[in-house]
Amino acid sequence: MYRFDYHRAGSVAQAAALLAERGEAVPLAGGMTLIPTLKHRLAAPSDLVDLGFIEGLSGIAIGSETVTIGAMTRHADVAASAELARVLPILPRLAGHIGDRQVRSRGTIGGSLANNDPAACYPAAALALGATIVTDRREIAADDYFQGLFATALEPGELIVAIRFPRVDAAAYAKFANPASRYAMVGVAVARGAGTIRVAVTGAGSGGVFRPDVLEAALAVDFSPEAALRARVDADDLMSDIHAQADYRAHLISVMASRAVADCLGGAA
Ligand SMILES: Cc1cc2nc3c(=O)[nH]c(=O)nc-3n(C[C@H](O)[C@H](O)[C@H](O)COP(=O)(O)OP(=O)(O)OC[C@H]3O[C@@H](n4cnc5c(N)ncnc54)[C@H](O)[C@@H]3O)c2cc1C
Repeated sequence: MYRFDYHRAGSVAQAAALLAERGEAVPLAGGMTLIPTLKHRLAAPSDLVDLGFIEGLSGIAIGSETVTIGAMTRHADVAASAELARVLPILPRLAGHIGDRQVRSRGTIGGSLANNDPAACYPAAALALGATIVTDRREIAADDYFQGLFATALEPGELIVAIRFPRVDAAAYAKFANPASRYAMVGVAVARGAGTIRVAVTGAGSGGVFRPDVLEAALAVDFSPEAALRARVDADDLMSDIHAQADYRAHLISVMASRAVADCLGGAA
């Protein structure tokens, strides 16, 4: 690990000021990605600005039309939320299957979305639900936010403070987990709102999380597990790696989409 200075920020404004002042500073959330990156000397920030002691950055607020989750809310707290399970159960179910107990106890929703790992689960839910990423500077629609592998619309020093999800009629996430890491080999989120069907795929796209037109079109005509199984995503734009070839991932997308649709129809939203 390279040497760095550690700062415990007391407010979002103080964190933002530190990030602006110190050219090579980065925010620290749960550290589940950042700390291993430092340990492997893959990054050499001059300063870490810890967001973990800022009041008001974590918590779940349920509104009549939306659910707002603070950036520092840990996966374990999302998974355990009985209120969320009642109004937007896709989120606690997804969070409850992230990594292992240790990762869920430390990892945060804001860190996950800032990191935008191509195999992470929250990006699929955020994109399928049409969430809004709220930062210390602006609000960014999920459709504009995800910009490629580990790439987002965040500017240097910009902090996610919360994520706002619309409440929808039904939504579900199905993941084929990598048996070693529990990351998604393929994960599909499906959301059905007022007159809209949105689908997002993680773990498979060579450009990170994406919305598959073919599945959205098929499900708009026939919202059924069978229609999802019949709709085949083109393998040309999918990843091939040691875990799975692109054509296998294409097959898994249809299968995971059909499971997510079945969950939606089962009232399991
Ligand atoms: C063994 C293992 C298994 C995992 N399995 C899964 C899985 O199945 N599914 C899944 O989705 N994820 C998985 N993860 C990732 C995990 O969910 C973490 O939550 C994620 O890596 C990063 O979140 P964090 O809070 O730990 O962020 P950190 O590691 O602290 O930060 C990650 C990056 O985001 C930046 N950042 C953090 N917070 C903010 C913010 N509020 N604003 C702006 N930038 C910010 C940091 O500067 C850093 O660049 C796994 C991780 C591990 C180690």
